[in-house]
Order: sequence, then C-alpha cells, then structure tokens
Amino acid sequence: MAETIETNSPAQTEAWAARLARTLEGGDVLALEGDLGAGKTTLVRGLAAGLGIDPSKVSSPTFALMNEYAPRQGPGLTLVHIDAYRMNTPDELAGLGWDRLVEDTTVVIAVEWPSKVEGALPPHRTTTITLEYLGEGERAITLTPPRTWTTCPTTGKAVPPDSPTWPFADERAQLADLHGWFAGKHTISRPFDPDRDDPTELPHADPEGPQGTA
Ligand code: ADP
Ligand code: MG
Repeated sequence: MAETIETNSPAQTEAWAARLARTLEGGDVLALEGDLGAGKTTLVRGLAAGLGIDPSKVSSPTFALMNEYAPRQGPGLTLVHIDAYRMNTPDELAGLGWDRLVEDTTVVIAVEWPSKVEGALPPHRTTTITLEYLGEGERAITLTPPRTWTTCPTTGKAVPPDSPTWPFADERAQLADLHGWFAGKHTISRPFDPDRDDPTELPHADPEGPQGTA
C-alpha cells in the first residue's frame, strides 16, 4: 500500500511535495516522520509552493509550535505547519485550537514529529510521509495513504479506520494472523535480516524445511 520514491536534492523533494499538494483537499492532514535533518521542513516548503503560498515564508516552527501560511491570493487552502517535537502529550495540541483546525475544510495540516501526538491525528484523513536519509543529498520518501474502512484479513469483518488494531478486527484476529506467519500461510517479501530473523523460523526460507538440529 505504501509507495516509496527517492530524491537526489532538496529541490527534488520540494517539487515532489508541490505535486502532492495539488492533490490535497481541505481537512487533509500530513504526518511527516523522519529524523532531524531528514527533510520534513524542506518538504513543507514544497507543499507551500504547490498550494500557491510563498515557500520562503516556511520556517521550522520548533519554538512557535505552529505556523499558518495563507495563500497569496484567492480562495486557496491555508497551510498549517505544526512541529510537535516539544510536545509530550496529544493534549498539547488542544492549546493550538486543534479541534477547530481539524474540522476546518479550508486548511491542510502538516505535522512534524507526529509520534509525539500519537492518536490525535484523524486516521481517515491522515497521509503519513516518512523521510529517510540515504546519503548527502539523497532521501527516501514513503507515502502511506489514510486508513479507510477495510476488511479484516483474518475474520473478513469490516474494520473502521480508527480501530487500534487496524486493519484487523481485533487483537485476536491480529494474533491469529501472526500465527499464520509462523505456520507458513504467508510468504515473506522483505529481505532477510539476520538481526531480526531466525532462519529456522522462516517458513519459506528453505523449501526442504528447517535443517535438523539433532
Ligand atoms: P527536518 O525538518 O526533517 O529536520 P530540514 O528540512 O529542516 O529537515 O533539513 C533537511 C536538510 O537536508 C536541509 O539542509 C536540506 O537542504 C538537506 N537535504 C539534502 N538533500 C535533501 C533531499 N533530497 N530532500 C530534502 N532535504 C535534503
Ligand atoms: Mg523541521
């Protein structure tokens, strides 16, 4: 479901974000994940450009916590830029008028360090964008679209976007799926990681089955 692209310069990241911005609607929330220097604020500059806002107005709201950038002209969307780095609980968003903002269909909200306010962002409106440092000018950008109602892969039940066990119906369904992994009902598509994976536990690591240890 998630899509990953790579950029080779800040300008490329901005251009990508500007294109993304043109697909956004009022009420959309972007959760920007990534370490310090990953390019979150750079990406917000691109969002601004795409929304018809002067990108040079965008600065890191690390101390202000929130900046609002209005469109240059016309009825365009206002960009709200929040840096949650200094927040300790989702309650701190309330002080910024969060309840009003998140209902406002004339704004797009970009949140840096969303993990600090986990649970406050509406899952059915939030697109998660993860930036990763690959090298000097290179970044990987992964976009995960908002959660929607989905069908639980274990039970076949409909699961709402705000379910804590999404996309599973409940914890039991989640555990049953995990059990399925170890029983070999699923295949593994990510690369083998020796720090995380025990080769004898990977159901498809060896078509002959685990080698005897006796
Ligand atoms: P963050 O907000 O995640 O802390 P910033 O956007 O403030 O990060 O800083 C990212 C830094 O990395 C900037 O100095 C930017 O010029 C640099 N950079 C280098 N390559 C890229 C790239 N491909 N995309 C985004 N930023 C990049
Ligand atoms: Mg930043």
